[in-house]
Amino acid sequence: MIGGGEIALRKIRLVAEAGASITAVAIEFCAELRAMAAESETLQLLEDRYSQAHMHNLQPAVLVIAATNDRELNRAVSADAQGLNILSNVVDDPDYSTVIFPSIVDRSPIQIAISSGGDAPVLVRLLRTQFEALVPAGLGKLAALAGRFRTRVKAKFSHGSDRKAFWEEVFYGPIAEQAYANNLQRAEQLLGEKIAATERFSTGEVYLIGGGPGDPDLLTFKALRLMQQADIVLYDRLISPEVLNLVRRDATRIYVGKTAGDHAVSQSNINQKLVEYAQQGNRVVRLKGGDPFIFGRGGEEIETLAEHGVSFQVVPGITAASGCASYAGIPLTHRDHAQSVHFIAGHLRSGQIDLNWRELVQSNQTLVFYMGLNGMETICAKLLEHGLAADTPAALIEKGTTDQQRVFISDLTDLPKRVRDAGAKAPTLIIVGTVIALQHKLAWFNVDAKTD
Ligand code: SAH
Repeated sequence: MIGGGEIALRKIRLVAEAGASITAVAIEFCAELRAMAAESETLQLLEDRYSQAHMHNLQPAVLVIAATNDRELNRAVSADAQGLNILSNVVDDPDYSTVIFPSIVDRSPIQIAISSGGDAPVLVRLLRTQFEALVPAGLGKLAALAGRFRTRVKAKFSHGSDRKAFWEEVFYGPIAEQAYANNLQRAEQLLGEKIAATERFSTGEVYLIGGGPGDPDLLTFKALRLMQQADIVLYDRLISPEVLNLVRRDATRIYVGKTAGDHAVSQSNINQKLVEYAQQGNRVVRLKGGDPFIFGRGGEEIETLAEHGVSFQVVPGITAASGCASYAGIPLTHRDHAQSVHFIAGHLRSGQIDLNWRELVQSNQTLVFYMGLNGMETICAKLLEHGLAADTPAALIEKGTTDQQRVFISDLTDLPKRVRDAGAKAPTLIIVGTVIALQHKLAWFNVDAKTD
């Protein structure tokens, strides 16, 4: 390394991480480099003005990096290096480099290098961000695991094509998922079992996935990845067609939705089906609207799986309250308005809604009613009856986050009539509280939708 400043420091860190032993030549070194050299056995600092003699003395260097702030000197260094057939890199000067440093997405042992040959470093950085998001954080662990088993797999399958099929199943199935979830022992155990089993590997897995409130952009990366591996998908009425579209094309899709009152497939039936499909060796995606653990009966489904020893994972989703509030421009909490927020099941049970109304009418909180459209009149009347002011702001969001979203802003007295007159249809979410006063300033999505 010729140079001793900030830029030299960055490059030195990079090559040191790759295991290089480094000699740096400069008239002055920054404090970090001096500290680093004091601790390191592989970094030596040579306080000296660079001359061609260094290049000869430093033989057998395999790479020379020129990172001084003197462009001409950098180029001279590079020429000297090339004269001795040593690879050279001049920082920010690709024309004078025989080697360039790509941007790296590091999932060691897997590394992705991205380079534009110096033409578009910003574009490279953007691409790198995309890869960082796309490639599971635990990919390195999976690769390392595969590395430890390579010899055994090779011994077991003599045909290359068998080995390929084997690894494909490993990398696209429960073993990979266990590694990504940092359950390395479990992954290793499953991999061991898979090798030992003579017949086709046949342990399925269930992924209980939150599909969010409607907008497919609100899915998590993890949800998308698992959806693209599914053999079978069981989905609800609340799953938007756009979200369902992102499931692997060849997957079998099974609708298990309920319409109010009419239970298409009973809950225990769904629980049972999940177990069966998984035991047959399928990767089963159970796709639910919003978040599976918020009014989603997700807990019941995985309870059955746990009882049957079927392995599963739960992927959180954006719940309707978060999605609808964000897309309607209603912050659920606010320093001046609400210090807490309640998520409430507002559905009627034999014409009644049994809730602790006295608790719900306390000040400085926001109420969010799920499943409240049928009982809307009762909800508003009960809140008024228990002491909320008649002009307490109340909002209803219809089909939130989708391009059919409508937002009705009113108060407890008037909201039901407004909403009925407009013929709003499920799914809808009711929000009550003074945070709604902020909405006229903060609305940003689908603002042209008519609500009158
Ligand atoms: N698990 C889901 C909730 C299921 S209960 C979640 O976390 O969001 C079903 C209720 O969710 C609906 O009655 C409605 O109140 C609400 N909901 C779901 N999606 C919605 C949407 N896009 N817009 C408005 N409300 C929605």
